[in-house]
Amino acid sequence: MSDNVVPLEIPSTQLNDGQSMPQVGLGVYKMDDDQAQVAVLAAIRAGYRHIDTAVLYHNETGVGRGVRDAIAEGLVTREDLFITTKVWNDMQSADNTRKSLQESLDRMQLEYVDLALVHWPAPQLGTYIECWQTLLEAKDRGLIRSAGVSNFFPEALDELEEATGQRPVCNQIEMHPCWSQAEQREDNARRGIVSVGWSPLGRGRQFEMSPIPELAEKYGKTPAQIVLRWHIELGNVVIPKTTNPSRMVENASIFDFALTPDETAAITALDSADGLQGGDPRTFTGV
Ligand code: NAD
Repeated sequence: MSDNVVPLEIPSTQLNDGQSMPQVGLGVYKMDDDQAQVAVLAAIRAGYRHIDTAVLYHNETGVGRGVRDAIAEGLVTREDLFITTKVWNDMQSADNTRKSLQESLDRMQLEYVDLALVHWPAPQLGTYIECWQTLLEAKDRGLIRSAGVSNFFPEALDELEEATGQRPVCNQIEMHPCWSQAEQREDNARRGIVSVGWSPLGRGRQFEMSPIPELAEKYGKTPAQIVLRWHIELGNVVIPKTTNPSRMVENASIFDFALTPDETAAITALDSADGLQGGDPRTFTGV
């Protein structure tokens, strides 16, 4: 990409704690440190301001380097960016959550992250409330700007609220046309929680499914752009992963067209009982 490319303008969604989150972020799962460093810089050059990492991804060091490169190039200031990390399931006790967050900040060489998530409820471990309470404490201490969750289901969200009186700003859940999460999206919305889609492209497995190619043809867009625009029509935030700078631009160039309600519904109708690609939030512990 040449240096004179005008960065894309990516709109933001308001969070229930007064912060705001860009509607398209860069997912960095399965990138190593070097790839993450290069990808984060390329994404920021393209106009991305939102980066989604996690302790689990083992690339926070690279993400931090990419952020520092972008700031050193004068592309952005730290305040322009929205950096998310997550606390892994075996670190949910209060002490471990504090340790995990501090280690994330140290690896990224950041004073704060914009958002920290409880990565999975892993209800069998019995510790997600402790992790949530500790995220709220970290927010009070200024180490994180917002506190959220990932892969949570309604009963687990009820418990967080009963324990602390506070709701997460977002629930990051697996979401793509074959797993469109109507019930959880509705539940999140009812609580004022933003739904963030992970694997928003379904890892590319649905690009040939009608009506996605037909809509791509109609709008002169790619199947990936149709799927990501479908998320935007539903009110979701998306964090597609790519290391390819031209795909980064492609994935964020979805704000110059709209799908009709019928077209949106036709993509939602691809939902399938066996569409889940990752873990089941009610049983997955990952440890
Ligand atoms: P994704 O749906 O973003 O798909 C990524 C795949 O699609 C990659 O193989 C990439 O090469 C390809 N791709 C990207 N843009 C494309 C384009 N324009 N055209 C064609 N192919 C394209 O899947 P993902 O990586 O699983 O999810 C995205 C992010 O979600 C992750 O990087 C991570 O940040 C997050 N995530 C979170 C959780 C969680 O439990 N919270 C779990 C998995 C992933």
